[in-house]
Amino acid sequence: MDVFPGRLYQASEVENISGLEEIAAISENKCFRCGNTNPVLFGEMDCAFCGKETCAYCRNCIVMGRVNSCQSLYYRKTSTLAETKSALLNWDGTLSKGQQKASNAVVDSLEQSRNMLLWAVAGSGKTEMMFEGMNWALRKGYRVCLASPRVDVCLELHPRLKAVFPTVEIVCLYGDSEDKYQGEQFVLATTHQLIRFYEAFQVIFIDEVDAFPYAKDPFLEYAVEKSRTKEGATIVITATPEKKWQQECANGKRHFVKIPARYHRRKLPVPRLCWIGPWKKKLTQGKISPKLITWINNIKLKKQPALIFFPEIEAMNNFAEVLATYGFEKPVTVHSADGARKEKVEWLRERKIDLLLTTTILERGVTFTDVQVAVFGSEEKIFTEAALVQIAGRAGRKMTHPTGDVCFFHYGKTAEMNRAISHIKKMNELGLAEGMLDD
Ligand SMILES: [Zn+2]
Ligand SMILES: [Zn+2]
Repeated sequence: MDVFPGRLYQASEVENISGLEEIAAISENKCFRCGNTNPVLFGEMDCAFCGKETCAYCRNCIVMGRVNSCQSLYYRKTSTLAETKSALLNWDGTLSKGQQKASNAVVDSLEQSRNMLLWAVAGSGKTEMMFEGMNWALRKGYRVCLASPRVDVCLELHPRLKAVFPTVEIVCLYGDSEDKYQGEQFVLATTHQLIRFYEAFQVIFIDEVDAFPYAKDPFLEYAVEKSRTKEGATIVITATPEKKWQQECANGKRHFVKIPARYHRRKLPVPRLCWIGPWKKKLTQGKISPKLITWINNIKLKKQPALIFFPEIEAMNNFAEVLATYGFEKPVTVHSADGARKEKVEWLRERKIDLLLTTTILERGVTFTDVQVAVFGSEEKIFTEAALVQIAGRAGRKMTHPTGDVCFFHYGKTAEMNRAISHIKKMNELGLAEGMLDD
C-alpha cells in the first residue's frame, strides 16, 4: 500500500515504515492524533504489543482505530505540487459586489499566509467567494482542504467543485465514505476526518465553522490546526460567528471581512415577534394559539411552502397531533435521527407537501424557494442568536423570491431573540452603507 503525504498512519496500516517520519501516538498524557488530554478519555489495557498490563490508549478517537501509548504514528512529509500556469477554475458566473469583495479578501489573505474570518450572511453565495482563492492556491501547487462539520455540506459541494475545477483531483472524505485519501491535491472532508492528517495542507477553508459538532468539540479545533502546514492560511466562513469571535473582530484582534448582503441585493428579512402565551400548557389542552393558526391559513391561501421550527421533538409531535384536530392535514415532521430526513426535505422542495415541522436540524444548509418561516417557542434555550439568525436566513434566498415572512412565536422575549433581530438589522444597514443593496 502507498503512503500518501500528510496523512498519519499506524504501523499496521503500512507495509513498510522505513523512510517515514515517526511520532509518538501518546506522549505526556496527550493523544497526538486527536489532541485529547482528558484523563477520563484514556483507557488502560493488557497490551499484546508492549506486554504491559496497563498500556494507555485513547478512547476519544478510537473510532479511527485504537492508538496505544506504546505505538507510533507514521507519515510522509507533505509537499507542494508543480505550479500551473493556466487557470484551473472553469466558471463563467459573475460575482455580486459583496462576493467580489469577499473573493478579493480571500486571495489577499492566502497571498499573505494570513488567517481570516469570512463573516458572510446566509444566502450571500459563500461557495463562489472561495473559487478565486482556491484557484490561486491550486495553481501554486498548494494542497487545499475544504472542511465542514456537516457531511451534507461536503456531499453537496463535491460535484460543484468537480465541475468548476475539472482537471484537479478532488476527494471527499467522511465517516463512511468509500473514497480514501490517495494524495489528491484537493481534499473535501468533514472536520472530524482532519484528525487523520498532519501538516498536510497549505490552505484550509472551513465552512459553517459554528455548526454542530465543531462548536462543541474542542478537539476538532486541534485537528484543523494540526492538519495545516505552519506557514499556511486558514479561511473560516460563517454567517454567525460565536460571541467571542464577534468581540475579537470588534477589538481588532481577529482579521475578518464582513459581507452583509445577499448576492441578489435585497435586504435580509427581519423577524417579527408574536406573543402566543403558555404554549406548552395549551398544547396539552389540545389548543394552538389562534395567531399561529392564522399564520398557517395565510400561507395556505398564498400557496407558499412553510417551515415551522420547534425547540424539541415532543412539542413538535404534540403540535402535529393538535393541528390535525383543527381541520388541517396532519403535517410531516422531521428531526436529526429521522431516517427519511432527505426525502422529507425533497417533498417540501418539490411541493408534495406545503408545511414541514422541524427541529433545529434544518436551521442551515437548506434552500426552499419562497419559504415562509416560523419559530415556535422561540424563547427556548436552544434558540440562540446564531440559531435564530440561521433560521431567519432560510427565507428570501432566491433571486426570484428574495423576501419572506419570518415570525418568532414566543412566550416571553429573550436576549437571544433581541440579539438575533439586531444582528440582522445591522447587517441590512451595513449592506446599504456599502452599496450592496438596492433598497
Ligand atoms: Zn502497549
Ligand atoms: Zn485520540
